[in-house]
Amino acid sequence: MAPGLYLVATPIGNARDITLRTLDILQQAEVLAAEDTRSLRRLLEIHGIALGDRPLIAYHDHNGARARPRLLAAIEAGQSVAYASEAGTPMISDPGFDLMRAAQEAGLAATSAPGPSAMVTALTLAGLPTDRFLFAGFLPNASGARKRTLGELGAVPATLVFYESPKRLDGMLRDAEEVLGAERQATVCRELTKKFEEVRRGSLSELAAFYGQNPAKGEIVVLIGKGEAAVVSETVMEDEIRTALETMSVRDAADSVSAKLGVKRRPVYQLAMKLAGQ
Ligand code: SAM
Repeated sequence: MAPGLYLVATPIGNARDITLRTLDILQQAEVLAAEDTRSLRRLLEIHGIALGDRPLIAYHDHNGARARPRLLAAIEAGQSVAYASEAGTPMISDPGFDLMRAAQEAGLAATSAPGPSAMVTALTLAGLPTDRFLFAGFLPNASGARKRTLGELGAVPATLVFYESPKRLDGMLRDAEEVLGAERQATVCRELTKKFEEVRRGSLSELAAFYGQNPAKGEIVVLIGKGEAAVVSETVMEDEIRTALETMSVRDAADSVSAKLGVKRRPVYQLAMKLAGQ
């Protein structure tokens, strides 16, 4: 195999969701690197690929700065290095970015062997428009920051795609209902490609009520459909206006906030006047 960095996508559940090219690369690369070396070992075993005496090097967010020079040196010395994240596509809410950029900056050959990713799989199953979508990864944990982010994203005319943990799903759906409106359509995709795969569609209020009663388990992608017209809660609007008023006149704050949130200017202006005490 030619020297270089080979990013490979690995299954997100079903071990057979792996491409022939990725299997070839895992079979032939002289050095293997993985976010989680145990997961990659298991995958090699399932597919009958012997590691042999090839090095298997851990590369993740916490040791990237130390492990990167070793991987780059291997490529510079003429070796092929395959990198896999724990599951799915490297760099999609996973490590790999710094490694790829460093390889490119060093003028080394680098390529990607595409394959599974939970975000694409969820989009194909959600029953929401896919002509335009925005992948936003994980939302902040704290409710205030989460609502602010949802407020900003809510105005984007596209299907929104989020990764979420089962512990936070209920709170996230309740915040989304408050910020984006009860009627906005959404889909929760759980355990994709696995035995208990589930796709549940409904309005944000229906989904919040369901998962409030039935706590979810497993891995989750939440997709939120495009709003008919941007619906933004008064709390979010007020927060944005207060921040804008720190540096702007009422008129400029109204322009800036209505553009940022994608809402009509008039109600923003009226609220800004009230908050500014005019
Ligand atoms: N790189 C991966 C990819 O390409 O999808 C994502 C890694 S990210 C750290 C892990 C998150 O992806 C999980 O918390 C979950 O939100 C989502 N995810 C991964 N596998 C999934 C699955 N089988 N079903 C639903 N969501 C999944």
